Amino acid sequence: MLDAAGIVFPAPLKRAAGAALGVLRGALDLALPQLCAACREPVDGKGLCPACWSKLSFITRPYCERLGIPFVYDPGPGILSMQAIAEPPAYHRARAAVRFDEISRALVHSLKYGDRLDLAPMMGRWIGQAGRELLAEADALVPVPLHWRRLWARRFNQSAMLAATVAKDSGVPVAFDALKRVKATAQQVGLSRTERAANIQGAFKVPAEGKAAVAGRRLVLIDDVLTSGATVEGCARALLRAGAANVDVLVFARVADPGKTSI
Ligand SMILES: [Zn+2]
Repeated sequence: MLDAAGIVFPAPLKRAAGAALGVLRGALDLALPQLCAACREPVDGKGLCPACWSKLSFITRPYCERLGIPFVYDPGPGILSMQAIAEPPAYHRARAAVRFDEISRALVHSLKYGDRLDLAPMMGRWIGQAGRELLAEADALVPVPLHWRRLWARRFNQSAMLAATVAKDSGVPVAFDALKRVKATAQQVGLSRTERAANIQGAFKVPAEGKAAVAGRRLVLIDDVLTSGATVEGCARALLRAGAANVDVLVFARVADPGKTSI
């Protein structure tokens, strides 16, 4: 079975593993102070120390109503960015909680590679706040899937984990079977915009068992980071081809200037 966090375990084994982890975590909590996910300084609560917290860059209006890219000045209500007009995406709207920078990168990497799963509820809450308007109209959340080989290696899908926390806060359910990654794509890191688009071509598919969760439904794709947008574009196209009524995108962090920054 695939549980809410995208971890593949049969139920009894999962319970046993969960219990063992709980004991281990309890012992570690006694031995080690919690560390700030960004600067590694000990912190009282969980997640970030006050200094790193104050450096986080939350995205608020004014931004492009289509792409969610923050504007440096307010052009007036409903104005779209040049990029949204020149190259309109397949998805309807994208929103992100924070800008992708040094601090948010540390959070994303800690969740993805450092097994700081305790960060997911906090990050999920911020995602939910950024996407309040999208979630109010949504039928289901669709986490950007990993290829099974990567899921096997990493043991969990960080997007599924974030989607589970957004679902808990918003009441919008997660459609875990809606989308499959059928092609093991190369890592997007270091690829140009065009290379990313080619890399993702044909990578996502709505499987037969996912069709009912997609056709005629208003869906919100969930991912950790939006860089060039090639991944969510590939996902949105597959969902729309399978008859989705609407696809929006909700991520934790986005690159505010997709032409310049790389992960
Ligand atoms: Zn810190």
